[in-house]
Amino acid sequence: MNASPRLGRIFGIPITIHWSFILLPILTLYWANSKGADLNTTLLLMGLVVLIFICVVLHELGHALMAKRFGVKTKDIILLPICGMARLEKLPKLPKHELLVALAGPLVNLVLAILLAIPLFIFSTPSTSLIHQLSFGEVNLASIPFLLMSFNLAMVVFNLFPIFPMDGGRILRSLLAMKLKQNKATQIAAYIGQFFALLIVIYGLYLADYTLAFTGLIVFVLATREQRIVAHNELMHTTSIESMVDTNFITLDVKDTIPFALNRINLLDQKFFLVLDQDQVAGYVSDAALKEADSNSVIGDMISYIPKGIQESDSMARASELFQKYGTPILPVSRGKELIGTIQIY
Ligand code: ZN
Repeated sequence: MNASPRLGRIFGIPITIHWSFILLPILTLYWANSKGADLNTTLLLMGLVVLIFICVVLHELGHALMAKRFGVKTKDIILLPICGMARLEKLPKLPKHELLVALAGPLVNLVLAILLAIPLFIFSTPSTSLIHQLSFGEVNLASIPFLLMSFNLAMVVFNLFPIFPMDGGRILRSLLAMKLKQNKATQIAAYIGQFFALLIVIYGLYLADYTLAFTGLIVFVLATREQRIVAHNELMHTTSIESMVDTNFITLDVKDTIPFALNRINLLDQKFFLVLDQDQVAGYVSDAALKEADSNSVIGDMISYIPKGIQESDSMARASELFQKYGTPILPVSRGKELIGTIQIY
């Protein structure tokens, strides 16, 4: 999952392709082959895949650039087959801003679809004969704008379904959040999403279209999972670390010798210790490292970097971000300038 290649940056945002993206050209090749398409058609189809890929990137950039307007950075854009994900660092604070961020993606596709419709009107390519051609694996250069326009329109419709993690789910949630509390809005939006997913399952079963029913089931599972993630994120952003701070902690000094430090930490069940240098946090050491250390060295030689400046009033999300970013198991927590405790993960 992690071995996703980076494509580069657009507007400073890293673009990453998920490994499963490779399915798209493979399926295209398979489809072209099964329809007995010739080399030209196959190449055209691959070109179409590239164009679709660009449309997906533009959709995600729509979200990312709108978020930027409201001061929210985008960590990265991940591309999956036919869909993408702009991972924002946090949710925009105001529901109105969240609404605009969610709308920006489908809006990009709508604009693209309208632009692509212009040459279609001018050259009036009959679309019915085109679908006929397509079913026989005959695609030509003239049919590309129509196919691309259809894809963009499909993206608009698909994304407007009020189901998490699709944009429609976020649009619905932000609309509800204008009237309700954030977590209540998430809950109701999630229920509506699950209800829609169940309708898809039932409709699929009614038509005896098991692919559709199965798709509905997957959407249901995804919606449930996304709802948990959103609820968790909200909790993380609204809960301060105050209640999690361990105020019963001991610190070591950079000048302490190993035997002295071992003696101090003996019988403690704390695993990581803050190391101070002239009363300022200089880093941390683990009890395991202390036990293995050469008894002639001092603590200052073996400290690991620790990010400073986290306050007890900061959110759990902020702490979690620092834990992840620096891969540290312990953070010093201050009240103003005073060090009041630590927060640790095991
Ligand atoms: Zn989107």
